[in-house]
Amino acid sequence: MILYEEERNRGRDEGISEYGFSAGECYMAQKILQGKILIIEDEEGIVHLLNLYLKDAGYEVVVARDGADGLALHAREHPDLVILDIMLPALDGFEVCRRIRAWSQTPILMLTARGDEEDRIAGLELGADDYLVKPFSPRELVSRVRAILRRVGSSESGEVQAAQGRDKSSPDNEHEVLRFPSLTVDLAARRVEVDRSEVALTPTEFDLLALLAQSPERVFTREMLMNKIWGYDYYGDGHIIDVHISALRKKIEANSEYRYIKTVWRVGYKFEVGPKA
Ligand code: CA
Repeated sequence: MILYEEERNRGRDEGISEYGFSAGECYMAQKILQGKILIIEDEEGIVHLLNLYLKDAGYEVVVARDGADGLALHAREHPDLVILDIMLPALDGFEVCRRIRAWSQTPILMLTARGDEEDRIAGLELGADDYLVKPFSPRELVSRVRAILRRVGSSESGEVQAAQGRDKSSPDNEHEVLRFPSLTVDLAARRVEVDRSEVALTPTEFDLLALLAQSPERVFTREMLMNKIWGYDYYGDGHIIDVHISALRKKIEANSEYRYIKTVWRVGYKFEVGPKA
């Protein structure tokens, strides 16, 4: 107790809060709650700004100034999300995205130059989850980061709940698995199998499939999908959905005799199991 009092008194002089945590410890606690972000970007001004806003929002930030360094840091630090610029020295953002996706499903938010629509589409096709066009508002970036982590994170807690539910045999928390011909979607484990072999989907691809497959035959417009997947009013163009759907189709329909996602002309998409044309 006395020691504690002494610590507190000493703490006041050193800027330690009344709760007995130093500013650093509070910061650590926040970090654990919010997650770790890897920024791969060579523009000093942008790195500085992102660092400031993300740390302020409670995230731990690690920075790589080129693609090779980014890949090394990704392997070592296991970030919860990667912010990846396309224009990087030596190894560009596309190549970095491709190499990360070769072994990991870490969510990737790409930064692209204004007007380069082809770049945006190419990034999404390589497995990026979202993109922001430069110049962007740092607040917008933080809200995108939050939205992506929220949907990836909420399913993780769902997994814990499902596990607890199984232990207690509680029917409310049953491990939900959607089963279709040759296709299984395990919602809690975020695991997809086609003909009993696991298919690696990006977080966005999985969320799209889960959303569609939970309401077979229901037609979703592109706007509905964007708002449901990103979790807020999304002002991007509908093309982003088409790219994700196309990548998703390639992965789940390649080794199956069925097709699962049907394009509803001029409207959007629906989940419908049928024979391949
Ligand atoms: Ca750059």
